[in-house]
Order: sequence, then C-alpha cells, then structure tokens
Amino acid sequence: MMDLRGKRVLVVGLARTGLATVQFLREKGAVVSTSEIKPEAEMKEVSEQLRTWAISTEWGGHTVKQFIGQELIVLSPGVEPTLEPLRRAVDQGIPVISELELAYRFVESPILAITGTNGKTTTTLLIGEMLKEAGKRVGVGGNVGEPLILFANGKNRWDLLVVEVSSFQLEGIETFRPRCSILLNITEDHLDRYARYEDYIEAKIRIFKNQRAEDFAILNRDDPIVMKYEENVRARKFFFSLKGEVTEGSFFNGREVILRLVDREERYDLAQALLKGVHNVENMMAAILAARLFKSPQKAVEKVLGHFKGLEHRLEFVREVEGVSYYNDSKGTNVGSVIKSLQSFQNPIILIAGGKDKQTDLHPLRVLIRDRVKKMILIGEAKQRMARELGSFTDTVMAETLEEAVLLARHTARRGDVVLLSPACSSFDMFKDYKERGEVFKEAVNRL
Ligand code: ADP
Repeated sequence: MMDLRGKRVLVVGLARTGLATVQFLREKGAVVSTSEIKPEAEMKEVSEQLRTWAISTEWGGHTVKQFIGQELIVLSPGVEPTLEPLRRAVDQGIPVISELELAYRFVESPILAITGTNGKTTTTLLIGEMLKEAGKRVGVGGNVGEPLILFANGKNRWDLLVVEVSSFQLEGIETFRPRCSILLNITEDHLDRYARYEDYIEAKIRIFKNQRAEDFAILNRDDPIVMKYEENVRARKFFFSLKGEVTEGSFFNGREVILRLVDREERYDLAQALLKGVHNVENMMAAILAARLFKSPQKAVEKVLGHFKGLEHRLEFVREVEGVSYYNDSKGTNVGSVIKSLQSFQNPIILIAGGKDKQTDLHPLRVLIRDRVKKMILIGEAKQRMARELGSFTDTVMAETLEEAVLLARHTARRGDVVLLSPACSSFDMFKDYKERGEVFKEAVNRL
C-alpha cells in the first residue's frame, strides 16, 4: 500500500472510473486535481460533483501545466499513454500508473485477470457466474461493470476478484500481480492508437510480468502470437486448444471440452451450452479451466454452461424474417472477431461491415469473405479502403446509413441466409458507441 496523505495526485480522464478514482484518492487524503479531454459542457454532472469537492480541473484538453508538479499521475482506462504532457511528466520523474495499478495496491483479495484482443467480457462474466454458482464470494469488474478501484476501499472481502483488463490498463502497471492470468488471443487492433503492432502485443504480455512460479497462467495454445511469448511466463502454465490435446489444460473434441489436470480428467458436453460460435468454445474452455482451478465443482460449472446466454451485441440473434436470420455482432470491432463470427455459420452470409477505420491489416478476411460471404455491404468512414482491399472477393456495395444497409441486405437475402452486422471497425464515425450501433441495427431489423 502507498501513503497518499497530502500527496498531489492528478487523475487523467473523468468517465466513471476517473470519478471513482478521484473519490478513492480523496478518502485517502490526497490532494487531487484532474484533466479531461472533453469540454465541461458535455460533462455537467461530473463537473458539479468536482465543484462540490473543490477539485481543480482542466477541461477540453490536457496541458503540460496541469501535469507538471504532481507527485503521482493516475490514468483512467481510455486514456492514451502516449499523450505529450505525460511524456513530459515522465521525463521529470513523476510516476504514471493506471487505475488498475492504484487499485491493485489496495485490494486485499486475490485477482484473476483476463485479457486478450477478443472475448474478455464474455469470459470474465462466465467465470464470475461459475464461481458464484459454487457459492464463492466473487467480485467481477475491471474494464466491464465496476472499476477495480471500487473494490479497493477495504470495506469488503472476496474469495476472488475476476477482472477484465485492457492493454492500456496493463501499460500502466508496475506491481500488478494476478494470482491467475488469462491471455485469450492476440490479433491486430487499435493501430489507430498504437504506433506499432508490437507495442500492443507487449502491453498485453505485461499481464504476466510480476507473476511467480506459484501463480497460474492460462494460455491459448492455438494462437501463434501468444505462444511466441510463452517463454516469458514464469507462472504455472495451463493451455486450452481447439486443435489438439494438451497435457494440462482443456481441449475440444468437437462435442465435449475435456479438462485435464495432473490428478483428473473431466468432460463437459457442450451440446447443452447456449453460447454459440467457435470463439465461444475457446472462451468456455478458458472459463472451465479457471473455474476448476479455483475449486468451483464440476456440477456448478455445467449448470452455468447450460444457462449463460451470452451478451448483447456479441453474435446476438435478433430475429428471423422470411427464413433469413439476422445477427447483431456490433462488438465485432476488429478483424480477429469478424473472422470468428464468419466461421460460426455454415450458411451463406450477407455481411454488413465498416465504420471508423483502425488501419489494421484486412488481408486475413479475404479467404473467408470469398468462401462464405455472398454479399458485403459497407458503411462508414472505412468503406472505401475496405472496398478496395476486399471488394474483389465478393459482390460488394456501399450504403450511406446502417438502415439502408439492412434494407439492401433484406433485398438480397434468400431463405436460409444469414445477415450479419460484424463491422471490423469501431463505431465512432456514425454512432456514440458500439451499443448504439447495435441498437440501430436491431431496430431496423425489427421494422422489416
Ligand atoms: P472483449 O471484451 O474482448 O471486447 P467480448 O466478449 O465483448 O470481448 O466480444 C467482442 C467481440 O469478439 C464479439 O464480436 C465476439 O463475437 C467476438 N469474440 C468473443 N470471443 C472471442 C474469441 N475468443 N476470439 C475471437 N473473437 C471473439
């Protein structure tokens, strides 16, 4: 634990996590100030709260003046660690940490941390359910739901905290040491924010940095990038694989997940599982492994597999219209997740994609688009580049709005087809976030 009394601490970014961090720091007696990129007018409630606490705040951007002279800087999850004022602060020797690191120093319960390019939220919630089903006291949060700092006030004890962590949060750790870490996969993402793909990979790998031999690490054996860094993992390793048997961990035989530990072998029939899609088999393999390592009985794990429905906007079935099934995968915001979504259907797909361009490599989509997509409808800022790089692999058209794309899809679709919104892009060019995009899609589908 660190002594925060009387310390000058700057909190950067004032969304929910930032505000919770400010509150935490105040309670610990720190002298808090803040910096936020949005103008004050867009954050009325936060601004009023800060005023009642008499906290100095800069709005509408980050300036060196606000950063220099601090004794500690704490970054909220969405803040880019490359900001110029941060660089200047680091040059002056001011420690910069993420909210994750700050919270970790005060949390007294063991942590199970989950990262990866895709599947974090699904896997985090699934593990949380499996442990709760077993009657354990678990807190679930981090990048999803409650920020970890809300678990750090010493008021409650948990058997385990199950925490989703992002690459940005991991960049700002120093001592963060999960009892168990899970790395689900690494594929290209956020190249609009990272200068190099390697930087993004290195951030993810930091989850293992402080682990020791007595800790656990769960790794995707089918992922070449994860496996490239496997040697850096000091914790005891467990693997999961769709492709072949593992000696310690879990694997899939086409129907059952087989869990293999030194002293036992167990089978989990996925015929009963509600989660669909190959990627969810991976998430379930990781979750089963984690839940069993933390002593959730097999029965409890099976029960959750039988009732966990999956989350909104992740390969979510919307409705069938004239024999055509519509799926909302608005959270499919990168190439890796779209690949998994396309692989999850046997029927011909009409794919609606596009949005804000993240400048990632689209090549890995080519073969799947050629083989499975009968028509591609592109929207948003990225549509020109996507049409240029992928358009020759299937019949491709462009639309101005998502509603228009849905109508075009309906026009083309035949009985048995799937219409899939899985954008491979973020949503910020046309929508507030991926949730709003998913809602607009569902409304358009429901109007058909
Ligand atoms: P995250 O929290 O990492 O963004 P989610 O569980 O919210 O992950 O899923 C995000 C997107 O990735 C969805 O489109 C989903 O269909 C897809 N997805 C989920 N799990 C995986 C996985 N293991 N591998 C690849 N894609 C996945």
